[in-house]
Amino acid sequence: MVLAQLGGSISRALQQMSNATIIDEKVLNECLNEITRALLQADVQFKLVRDMTTNIKKIVNLDDLAAGHNKRRIIQQAVFNELCKILDPGKPSFTPKKGKPSVVMFVGLQGSGKTTTCTKYAYYHQKKGWKPALVCADTFRAGAFDQLKQNATKAKIPFYGSYTESDPVKIAVDGVETFKKENCDLIIVDTSGRHKQEAALFEEMRQVAEATKPDLVIFVMDSSIGQAAFDQAQAFKQSVAVGAVIVTKMDGHAKGGGALSAVAATKSPVIFIGTGEHMDEFEVFDVKPFVSRLLG
Ligand code: GDP
Repeated sequence: MVLAQLGGSISRALQQMSNATIIDEKVLNECLNEITRALLQADVQFKLVRDMTTNIKKIVNLDDLAAGHNKRRIIQQAVFNELCKILDPGKPSFTPKKGKPSVVMFVGLQGSGKTTTCTKYAYYHQKKGWKPALVCADTFRAGAFDQLKQNATKAKIPFYGSYTESDPVKIAVDGVETFKKENCDLIIVDTSGRHKQEAALFEEMRQVAEATKPDLVIFVMDSSIGQAAFDQAQAFKQSVAVGAVIVTKMDGHAKGGGALSAVAATKSPVIFIGTGEHMDEFEVFDVKPFVSRLLG
């Protein structure tokens, strides 16, 4: 995965700095320039990168560090902390409770991996003893209901949808009601997508959210969309109360930097990542181990 290259480049920049005999302003700047280059190449938004290096410079005030201080350690720690800070919006997302009915609405563009991710999310919880259910409120894409039905059947998860009803709000409401009556504790609503950000899509998301009152809205983003991540995530956040992000296709050639931008745009944490097409290729996302792994 290309994300490893990002980690490799940052680690190399830190290593080069460590190899220097004296760590002065010039060495620090060279190190930060290398890190900036690596992050921009990984499609992290320019402003985030600039803020991060500014913060590191503020924390690592070389003039004020007494001779005894381990400057290398301080710089390394500052880089680690700043990367964690970008990925950690500071507040956890709403976490559904087993046995208590929660409605979770998934939003994202077509092709982001939304339908696949809905099933992965349901399957993950089912294995832990939950009673999940899937509602297909995607009336835009032909075949969406069949895809969800197929996935749900494979995972033995109850599903709801319609071949004839064209109003996604009605389907979403009926589906949620049906599964509440059946005492499902995790009612997952899959919604329509479009190829690009369109006013009609955002209006539809707003209406589905208003009618179903989800406890959590999850924004699903394809990790390979690169620099477009920030704007896309922000556009969804402006129409519905996005509370968490799932980044898909982390197994592919994605540069991964989009995840950092999506967190910044939605001020919501990444909770899972998709690492393949199969139902169980799905991992819980934790910031610190992720950044540690990134930096090797
Ligand atoms: P939707 O239009 O957003 O509902 O997207 P789909 O769920 O139909 O997914 C689009 C394509 O991406 C499908 O071919 C999925 O198998 C694939 N996909 C979804 N998540 C992942 C992932 O984490 N890794 C890989 N490699 N493919 C994925």
